[in-house]
Amino acid sequence: MEKYVWYFHEGSKDDRMLLGGKGANLAEMTRLGLPVPPGFTITTSACLRYLEEGEAFLDTLKEELEEKLKKLEQDMGKKFGSVQDPLLVSVRSGAAVSMPGMMDTVLNLGLNDNTVEGLEKATGSRWFALDCYRRLIQMYAEVVMGVASFLFSQELERIKEQYDAEADNQLTPAALEELIHYFKKIVVQETKEEFPQDPQKQLLKAIIAVLNSWNNRRAVVYRDAHAIPHDLGTAVNIQAMVFGNRGEKSGTGVLFTRDPSTGEKKLYGEFLMNAQGEDVVAGIRTPLPLDQMKEELPKIYNEIEEFAQRLEKHYKDIQDVEFTIEEGRLFILKTRNGERTAAAAIKIAVDLVEEGVLTKDEAILRVPPSELEKILHKQVELGKGYEVLARGLPASPGAASGKAVFNPDLAEKLAKKGERVILIALETTPDDIHGMIAAQGLLTTRGGMTSHAAVVARGMGKPAVCGCEALRIDTDKGQFSAGNHTIKNGEYITINGSTGEVIKGDSEMKEPELTDTTEKLLKWADERRKLKIRANADNGEDAQKARDFGAEGIGLCRTEHMFMGKDRMHLVRQLILGETEREQEAALENLLPLQQNDFREILQVMEGLPVTVRLLDPPLHEFLPDLLELQEEILRLEKIEDVELAQEKRELFRKTRNMSESNPMLGLRGCRLGIIMPSLYEMQVKALFRAGTELAAQGKDVIIEVMIPLVSEAEELAFLQPRLEKAIEEEFAQQGTSLEYQIGTMIELPRACVTADDIAQHADFFSFGTNDLTQTTYGFSRDDAEGKFLHYYLEKKILADNPFISLDKKGTGRLVKIAVEEGRKTRKGLKIGICGEHGGDPGSIEFCHNNGLDYVSCSPYRVPVARLAAAAASIRE
Ligand code: PEP
Ligand code: MG
Repeated sequence: MEKYVWYFHEGSKDDRMLLGGKGANLAEMTRLGLPVPPGFTITTSACLRYLEEGEAFLDTLKEELEEKLKKLEQDMGKKFGSVQDPLLVSVRSGAAVSMPGMMDTVLNLGLNDNTVEGLEKATGSRWFALDCYRRLIQMYAEVVMGVASFLFSQELERIKEQYDAEADNQLTPAALEELIHYFKKIVVQETKEEFPQDPQKQLLKAIIAVLNSWNNRRAVVYRDAHAIPHDLGTAVNIQAMVFGNRGEKSGTGVLFTRDPSTGEKKLYGEFLMNAQGEDVVAGIRTPLPLDQMKEELPKIYNEIEEFAQRLEKHYKDIQDVEFTIEEGRLFILKTRNGERTAAAAIKIAVDLVEEGVLTKDEAILRVPPSELEKILHKQVELGKGYEVLARGLPASPGAASGKAVFNPDLAEKLAKKGERVILIALETTPDDIHGMIAAQGLLTTRGGMTSHAAVVARGMGKPAVCGCEALRIDTDKGQFSAGNHTIKNGEYITINGSTGEVIKGDSEMKEPELTDTTEKLLKWADERRKLKIRANADNGEDAQKARDFGAEGIGLCRTEHMFMGKDRMHLVRQLILGETEREQEAALENLLPLQQNDFREILQVMEGLPVTVRLLDPPLHEFLPDLLELQEEILRLEKIEDVELAQEKRELFRKTRNMSESNPMLGLRGCRLGIIMPSLYEMQVKALFRAGTELAAQGKDVIIEVMIPLVSEAEELAFLQPRLEKAIEEEFAQQGTSLEYQIGTMIELPRACVTADDIAQHADFFSFGTNDLTQTTYGFSRDDAEGKFLHYYLEKKILADNPFISLDKKGTGRLVKIAVEEGRKTRKGLKIGICGEHGGDPGSIEFCHNNGLDYVSCSPYRVPVARLAAAAASIRE
C-alpha cells in the first residue's frame, strides 16, 4: 500500500515531487541535524487522491495520521489536546514548485477553552497562552471557515485603542480575553457555527482546507502565470509549534543568504521579537533589519549565520530561510532556493563558481537564458522613491512610459503625432490591434500570461503588465484609479513588464549594458558552445550593438527597410510601377548610391566578421500607395477641378490596382520579384560590392555573403545565381579588384526543405527563415494568427506554445531536419544557420544545436541570451 504520510526523517531533498519543496527540505534539514521542530508530511499524491475522491479518501489516511501524530507526541513529550501542557501543531501547504503565499497555513492548532489553561500552566504565561489562542481563532476562521480577515483586524484595532496599546504585544491578558470573546462572536455571526473546541476536528479541518487551497483562485492564477502544471497537488506539513511569541527572548524572522536583488554576499533579512511568523509578512509591526540582531543577540546571530552558510553550501544556491527563536533557542522552520532578480541570479552563479561551490558548467545551467533576457531589455531609470500604483502580472518584459490612453483609436492618433502612449484596457481584443501597435506598452486589468494582450505584446516585443486587478478602469471617463490615486487620460505612467509594476509618472529609459559579472559568465559560455552566434541587423547602429553583445557576424541583413525612408519610397514606387525600362533604370540608378552607403556602414562596423545580406524580399503592398486614400484624393481633386493632377492620380490608381495582390504574404515576394525584375537584384549586389571593395581598398577585412530569399524551386536559384555572379564580376572589373564571397539561400518554404538536395547544388550556404517556414507549414499568416485566433488556441491548449516564438519541433522542426540532411547529402559540410525569430529563443536554439546547425542569428539584444542558451545546450548534450 502506498505510504501517504512521511515522518520528517524518512524523506530527503530529492523527494520534492512527493513531499513538496517545503516538506522535502524539512526532511533534508532534519537529516542534516539542524534544529527543526519534528513533524510529518502528507504527500502530494494523497492530495491528488483527495481532490479526486473527496473527503471519503481521508478514511484511508486516518490510521497513518494517528500513528505519526502519536510519534510526534512521544518525540515532544506532550499530548495533542491535553489539558496539561498540550502539544500544538502547525499545518502548512507546500507544493513541489514554490508558489509563495498562494496557498494556506494554520498555526497554533490544538488550543481550546481548556487546553489554553494547560498552556498557561506549562509556560507560566497567561499572556502567551491567550495570544496563541486569539491567533488560532482568527487564522482558523479565515482559512477553514472563510471569514473575512478585516473583521478580525478591525476588532484588534478597536481593542488596542480601548486598552491604549500601541502594538498587539502590549495587550494585557484581560484585553486578550476580551479579544477572544469578540473573535468567537465574529465566527458565530459570520458562519452560524461555533469555533470548534475539539482539537482533532481542528486538525482534520485544517488539513482539508490546506488540501483545497491547491485549487483556490489565487493559486490557479499563479500557476497559469508561471506555467506550473495544475496536476501536481500540494503536500501538507504538520509540525510541532515552536513559539516566537513566548516573550521578549523569543522572536521570528526570515533571511536570504545573499541580497536577492543584487546578489551581493551578505545575510539579508528581517526579524521581529515576541511575534509569530505571519507578523513579519503581515506588516503588523515593522520588523528590524537582521544586522541589528548582531548587536542585540550576538550568540543567536552567529548561530543563524552558521546555519545559513551550511544550508547554502549544501544546496549550492541562495537560500531563503525562516527561523524562530523560542526563549533564546533557535529553530529553522523552512529553507528554499531564494527568489531573486535576474541580475542577482547571474552574480550569485558567478560568485559560487569563484567560491568553489559550483562548476562553470553548473553556473551556466543555473541561469535560465530567459533571465538574461530580462536585463537586456530597455530598463526604466527610476528615481529614488518612485511611486508604485499597483502590481499586475509581468506579462511581457521591458519597461515603457507614456500617456495613459484608454482607447485604441486615440492611441493610434496620438502615436501618429509622435507621442508615446500606454494603452490601458480591461482586456484587449483583436479589434484593438492598431492601438496596440501604436502603443509603447500595454496594461490590462484582466487576463493572465496567455491573454490576448500578453501574447500579442510578447510577439511584438513590447512591454506589458496584465491582470492588474487592483486597477479600477472607468472607460467612459477615460481614467483609472488605484488605491487613492486617479490617473486620467493623457497623464504619464510607466509600466515595468519585467516586474509587473505600474508606476506613476514618466521615466527615463536606459539602454541595457552587460556588467562585468555577466561578461564573465558569457565568456565561460563561449568556451562551451558549439553554435556560432550572429545577429539580425540592417543598419550600422544595430550592427554595433550586436558586436558589443558578442555577435560573431550578421546572419541576416534585411534590405527592405533601406527602401522605406522618405527619400527612397518614391524611387521604389517608380521602380515597381514604372512601365518603361527607362523609368525603372532611372529609379535603380538613383537607389544604388543610397544602398551603397547603407552597406558601407554595416560592413565597416562588422569588419573581420561575415555579413549576410539578403536581397530584397518585400511584401509588395508595403511599398504601394493605399488605394482607398488614392480614391479619396481623386474625388477631392475632381471636386476642385484640378483636372491634370486628378488624371495623374487616376493613372497611379490604375497601376497600383494592377500590382495589388489578394494575398501579399504569398504574392510577388522574395526571389520572385528578383526573377521578374533581375535588374533590381543586380543593382543590390553592385551596391554591396562597391561598398565592399571600397572598404577593402582601405585595408579593411570584408566578408560578404549574398542571400536569396523565399526560394521554393532549385531552378529559381539556377536562374538567379549566374546573373548575380555576372553583375558582381562586372563590378570587380570596374573597380579593378575583387573579393571572395558566397551566394546562398534562405530555406523558408516547405518545398525548399524537401528538395534541399537539389537546392544545395546552387547554394553555398543555407539559412532557415523559420518565420516564413512556420507560416507556410501551418498555413497561418502570422499577423492574422496572432491578431485573431492564436491566443484562443493557446488558451484552449490546442497549441502548447506560440509556434512563431518557440520553434514547433514536430512539424516545422521536422522540415528543418529534412533540409539539413538533404542539403548536406549534396554538399558535405554545407554551412547552415537560422535567422528567423527562433534564433533567439533558448528552446529553439537547443534544437538547432542538436540538429547540427552551424549558427543561429537573432536580434542584437538576444545575442547574449543565445550565447548562454547555446552553451547550455552543449552541456546538456
Ligand atoms: C524568416 O522568414 O524567418 C525570415 C528571417 O525572413 P522575414 O522574417 O524577413 O520574412
Ligand atoms: Mg522570410
